[in-house]
Amino acid sequence: MSTSENSQTGCVLSEDVRRYYLDTMGIQVWQSLENQPDDIETDVPANSDVIWQQLEQAVSSCTKCELHTSRTQTVFGVGNKSADLLIIGEAPGRDEDLQGEPFVGRAGQLLNAMLAAIGFQREQVYIANILKCRPPNNRDPKPEEVGACNTWLQQQIELIQPDVILALGRIAAHKLLNTDQSLGALRGKQHNYAGIPLIVSYHPAYLLRKPVEKRKSWQDLKRIKLLLNSNGSST
Ligand code: SF4
Repeated sequence: MSTSENSQTGCVLSEDVRRYYLDTMGIQVWQSLENQPDDIETDVPANSDVIWQQLEQAVSSCTKCELHTSRTQTVFGVGNKSADLLIIGEAPGRDEDLQGEPFVGRAGQLLNAMLAAIGFQREQVYIANILKCRPPNNRDPKPEEVGACNTWLQQQIELIQPDVILALGRIAAHKLLNTDQSLGALRGKQHNYAGIPLIVSYHPAYLLRKPVEKRKSWQDLKRIKLLLNSNGSST
């Protein structure tokens, strides 16, 4: 499999993956006749496992922002790659950085319980973050870090094509909705992200500090369940 290197990112993507994304964006790629092999396979479908693998590899070697210098490892995302529900948080914390998985530790356990309350197991949804690397001391992500990391999340969303997105916390909601409105103002209504219904709710880490808000969070979860049911989603 041939590869091409992005000179800005230092990340390596296979030619198959690069072509898949160009196809997805509706960009036709012309290939010189001189370079074509004798036996051209025209009907080989894009293998999504390979595409995911290549994307994860590209993220794991990403050096697009300064966070690559302090991470233990990247935290790519986890779950069902054909999920109806995509959950997007802010950035890895200490436990996530150590384990390489988003939403672990106490906040992760609370998220699992919240999902169970609307009939989901963690494995049935896909969970990712705006940033793939931990900001030191869990500080807020810088705009340039969010901007640099955006491409990875975009590609995950395009591959999953969820029915509903749940943005957990202020940072995720602000980035996905391109707004700086308060979380309170963004909650309780249905938004739209590239044609996909998007619901905003509290980050489980916040709910651990402020359990009184769990009641509102439950309202948000019920809204999600309704949306999924109205879409005829499988879960
Ligand atoms: S946070 Fe995102 S853009 Fe920055 S180094 Fe990590 S993967 Fe790359």
